[in-house]
Amino acid sequence: MKETPVSVLVLSTYEAYLQPLTAAKLSRQLKQSGCEVRVVDCFVQSLDTKLVKNFDNIAISVPLSDSITTAIKLLDVVRELNPKAKVALFGAHAILNKVELETQYSVAIPSDVAGFFTGLKTVNDHNIIPDRESLLGFKHYVYPGGLINDKVVANIETTEGCRFKCTHCSVFSLAKGKVLYKKLECVMEEIAFAVENGAEHISFTDPEFMNNATHTPAIIDAMYRSYPQLTFDVITRVDRLLRYKDAFIAFFDKGCRFITTAIEFPDDKVLKALQKGYRTKDLGALAELIKTTGIVVNPTLITFTPWVDKATILAGEQYLAEIGLTEIIDPVQSTTRLMLTKDSNLLGTPHLEGIELSETEFGYDWCHPDQEVDELYRQRVSAMGGGFNRCCVRC
Ligand code: SF4
Repeated sequence: MKETPVSVLVLSTYEAYLQPLTAAKLSRQLKQSGCEVRVVDCFVQSLDTKLVKNFDNIAISVPLSDSITTAIKLLDVVRELNPKAKVALFGAHAILNKVELETQYSVAIPSDVAGFFTGLKTVNDHNIIPDRESLLGFKHYVYPGGLINDKVVANIETTEGCRFKCTHCSVFSLAKGKVLYKKLECVMEEIAFAVENGAEHISFTDPEFMNNATHTPAIIDAMYRSYPQLTFDVITRVDRLLRYKDAFIAFFDKGCRFITTAIEFPDDKVLKALQKGYRTKDLGALAELIKTTGIVVNPTLITFTPWVDKATILAGEQYLAEIGLTEIIDPVQSTTRLMLTKDSNLLGTPHLEGIELSETEFGYDWCHPDQEVDELYRQRVSAMGGGFNRCCVRC
């Protein structure tokens, strides 16, 4: 007699206004293990309560720190509607907050999520093609801000992890500087699917697009040969942008619209603490590169850190204005603040010595030794009234 397949309901939460790849990858893995899968992206779809009652197995994604609260609310809803369901949380920020989530919410965070439901061991394959057929189409995801909101955007990853060890970064906390490169043919398969389904712009969401000098330029060449009409954007560190400037300039001849790069803050103490691999004076070269080549750069900042006082913040901002970068920086970047997760690599280092920390459920709040700085932060946040701010889609 044929066995009844395991059915799993995958609920996705906020994934930075993009198609939820965390859920789509699990869905593919589950299908490869013989499961029947239904994916609901609760960020853009309402959740049918009947559906929750009908599934014995339910997985809830936690791809970002901003999705933890929603995931916990969904967990409550699921438990109330279907107390017998086997439930797991999954995704980068479920793993990063495993201890807190497991102890405070008594929920499983399995390392092998598909295996948790099927009872079969699953091997993690970084070349897996996300199951986008189970998601709503690209048109349902409208990227905020003015950079690409005129285009139908598909988000695609060419790697997993990142070679760098920026101390504040959750990618480093998880990947520990390791990178897994996707095969060219797998990335091209995803691009082909995106184009067939209406995508006009590819947002490469690798937290670092230039982990090495050859992998992604080969992808851009292949993409341009097959789909010269596509535009795209990438993310890279300032030092990579300067080191591989010729490759990045060439991207703009092949459809690149903009490059997102984390300046963080023009102060060497900040750059050293965060291990950003460049010095403040290098920003002059970045400004010159932008001016002379016309490449479009979307800088992101962490304006408020424990290492700069009010005078240094204002001086840093003045410096950015003098070298001509202010006009390309989104004003929301003047309100950004260092985030400390529970396993931040900054904790326990001399950089946080003497800094007052208060533990929260999933991280730490910090106070600046100079109250004026926190006051300036509050004033700016209240004047700004919120806004979308992304350096990558991992935190
Ligand atoms: S901040 Fe970016 S470049 Fe640095 S470790 Fe994280 S992902 Fe890599």
